[in-house]
Amino acid sequence: MDNLKKIEHIGIAVKNLENSNALFGKIFNAAPYKTETVESELVNTSFFKIGSNKIELLAATNPQSAIASFIEKRGEGIHHIAFDVADIHAEMQRLKAEGFILLNETPKRGADNKWVCFLHPKSTNGVLIELCQQID
Ligand code: ZN
Repeated sequence: MDNLKKIEHIGIAVKNLENSNALFGKIFNAAPYKTETVESELVNTSFFKIGSNKIELLAATNPQSAIASFIEKRGEGIHHIAFDVADIHAEMQRLKAEGFILLNETPKRGADNKWVCFLHPKSTNGVLIELCQQID
């Protein structure tokens, strides 16, 4: 319980990052504080801060990207909820023992200087859950 600290961010899949930065920029009345390409995930990302909350926009850089197939199947919209964890290894081990399917067996480097692991939405009522731990 103590290992899960808070919702770290909510990820939104978008078709065009530039257009969506402008759109969400109007909603939040702020520009993204960073944009970052994650080569391993074939995505361009941008991050907005609203108080202590964060929103991540994700756009595919390649048709092979998981974001491209998500949008093809379900359209643009909320893609995942990310939780800040103190010890990602311990949390992965705990959830695996509970029977959840991990999409990666070891933490991988995600956007915004984080170790990340995703839980398969098949085992989580269709919600893609991301665990993330700040890389010191
Ligand atoms: Zn994320």
